[in-house]
Amino acid sequence: MALGRTGDDGLEACPGCGDRLPATDGATHPYVGASSACWVRFAEVNAVLPQGGTPLRRLVTDAYMVQHPGVPERRAVQSVGTHLVGLHLVLERALPPAELSAALQRLLARPPAWRWLTPPEPNGLLTIASLEVAIGRPPEELSRAIEAYVRGVWTAWAPHHAQVVVWAQALD
Ligand SMILES: [Zn+2]
Repeated sequence: MALGRTGDDGLEACPGCGDRLPATDGATHPYVGASSACWVRFAEVNAVLPQGGTPLRRLVTDAYMVQHPGVPERRAVQSVGTHLVGLHLVLERALPPAELSAALQRLLARPPAWRWLTPPEPNGLLTIASLEVAIGRPPEELSRAIEAYVRGVWTAWAPHHAQVVVWAQALD
């Protein structure tokens, strides 16, 4: 199976999460490594996921970006690094998610020495599909789905956690 190519079934595998979705001619993000269909699905799901409930709601975007790292180029390297630091700060250092944007802005004002990290395979066991099916379910069920998705992506990057800790030290 060639990632990012359309198969005979008209489905295209997302180069990030691997989900096979109907191929579209829609736009893709300039450096986020998602198929057009996956990118559109993310935008739609993110738009309707309630902001309340689990504090990890704030991390869905970070997890998605990390799950779709793209190719080694400057913007992608910085994006993946920044979102990994975000996941680390909230999941492992208990930073309140409401303070995350300010922390990452401080980080980017004096960025650490980003480098490309080889994405894990698989890059998380769950995809945005797991949130898509949870929309409309009871709030606690939706919260569990969000937490499983976010933590799943972070756990997949365990081989790189030490590097992320070093990057986050720029904030200390
Ligand atoms: Zn995807």
